[in-house]
Amino acid sequence: MQFEFLFAPGRPRQAEEAWLLIGARPVRLRMVRHRRARRYVLRLCPDGAARVTIPRGGSASEAKWFAHNNMGWLERQLLRQASQPIRPKTWPAGTEILFRGERMLLQAGEGGLVQFGSEVVRLADASGDLRPVVERHLWRLAGKEFPARVFELATLHQLPVRRVTVRNQRSRWGSCSRRGTISLNWRLIQAPQFVRDYLVLHELAHLKEMNHSRRFWREVARLCPDFAQAERWLKEHASLLG
Ligand SMILES: [Zn+2]
Repeated sequence: MQFEFLFAPGRPRQAEEAWLLIGARPVRLRMVRHRRARRYVLRLCPDGAARVTIPRGGSASEAKWFAHNNMGWLERQLLRQASQPIRPKTWPAGTEILFRGERMLLQAGEGGLVQFGSEVVRLADASGDLRPVVERHLWRLAGKEFPARVFELATLHQLPVRRVTVRNQRSRWGSCSRRGTISLNWRLIQAPQFVRDYLVLHELAHLKEMNHSRRFWREVARLCPDFAQAERWLKEHASLLG
């Protein structure tokens, strides 16, 4: 899983973007400079965007040209990605999952109960895959806890939030609308508190700057001085979340 904020933070100035039209489908092209790269490299990210590495001495216009010349390859990769199952992994008993930033074992108990940490969930059937029921439980927990925290932080920083939704987004941690609705991914319940708070503050900062400009990141740094640490945590653990 790849997430929108994984691309820019830390070095927001280096990322440049463009759009490619593949068939009728607009595909985001991220251009990333890499001093040690020797040539242009194109790849498809898990979120469906294309990414081209610009080597030392290269340029964005050459990168776009390179991507254009490889659109056939990109189209095949997109088709392949679309045909893959979204969620191939199951969680049998004994699987380790992240919960509030800690690794926990899913233990199957008596009477169709599953336990992890202090949480106990009842299984509806004995299919062996605990994932659906555990995920539903985590989503419910997130739905209970996240809105209160968002309003708490919004009040603290005097930012106008109208509504909070907790959603099952596949490719992002959160979003913010111009009307003041903040949506968060329930999977953040698997992250530690400081990471969840960072994501909330990131979305709150969008109430002032609806982009990922330098001014936006300055606002993030003001609201959440240790945001880089949270970004790092997310990068390192993204594959363990959901
Ligand atoms: Zn953002």
